Amino acid sequence: MICILSGGTGTPKLLGGFDPGDICVIVNTAEDVSVSGIYVSPDVDTVVYTLAGLVDDTKWYGQKNDTYHCYDMMCALGHTEVLRIGDKDRGLKLFRTVYLNQGMPLSAVTTVILEQLAVKTPVFPMTDDEVTTLISTDEGELLFHQFWIEKRAAVTVTRVTYRGIEQARAVPGALKCMQDSDFVLVGPSNPITSIGPIIAMKEYRRVLREKVVVGISPTIGIGPVSGPTGVLMQGMGYRTDCVGVATLYQDFLDTFIIHSSDAHFSKEIESLGITVHTHDILLDSPQKKESLATYVKEVGAYSP
Ligand code: GDP
Repeated sequence: MICILSGGTGTPKLLGGFDPGDICVIVNTAEDVSVSGIYVSPDVDTVVYTLAGLVDDTKWYGQKNDTYHCYDMMCALGHTEVLRIGDKDRGLKLFRTVYLNQGMPLSAVTTVILEQLAVKTPVFPMTDDEVTTLISTDEGELLFHQFWIEKRAAVTVTRVTYRGIEQARAVPGALKCMQDSDFVLVGPSNPITSIGPIIAMKEYRRVLREKVVVGISPTIGIGPVSGPTGVLMQGMGYRTDCVGVATLYQDFLDTFIIHSSDAHFSKEIESLGITVHTHDILLDSPQKKESLATYVKEVGAYSP
């Protein structure tokens, strides 16, 4: 069993390359937010939709072939919603909100949703407690969706913190899956806002230091494949290439898979005590996902 740490875009692209029974996934929840009275867990939903074959893989957000009647009606009545949520997607989020309001933990509702959608892979939100990523910028402190959707990341980032992280407890099933796994895969997700909150939790970090951990770089060349990873890493004082990512993970990462065209960075990463492998890590076809997933399994089996 491979325990995969995931956000909501880069790592989900890879999930389809694995056998559903070979993996479990621990997902970031620090971007969770309440929108129009419903609990939105963007990364958990994208992972679940991906595994259920429902994801809109043009946006890596929401369900494919969704409609927007509810959203349009609310707009017609003068209600602006920052996130444009589709009808089917809203249905799932509403279902979750009903059960959360009855006192069920997020991880338990997620398990019910997985069962109902016939997903065989265990998926765990990193915590049932409230953790929120706060991005300090020259325009004030922003939530992730304000930073990315409202501001399009066109601000200067000075600091990123995870409110509630010290008190947050790992979901017990997630911690057990990580402990029992053959190795942990840190997927190609944003190291600051997706992987950052998971590895900032003491319980996961302790286990990560003991396990074999393989990572895949979310950057190719001098920046990310997509999204605001570069702006955030720069704001936190890190290089925006795979060396910067390796630096962030250096106290637990054993092996790092970087893009073949980034081979010239290998020596710098190896000087951090990390073994480097190169492969095509641009996940733009089903064949490449399978090829990378197979490679990850080989590398994990032979990692120190
Ligand atoms: P978010 O939760 O939507 O921010 O998504 P993630 O954190 O899971 O994914 C965003 C990260 O995935 C960015 O750093 C991208 O550079 C990276 N990414 C997106 N597509 C690919 C890809 O095809 N290959 C690799 N290696 N990284 C990717």
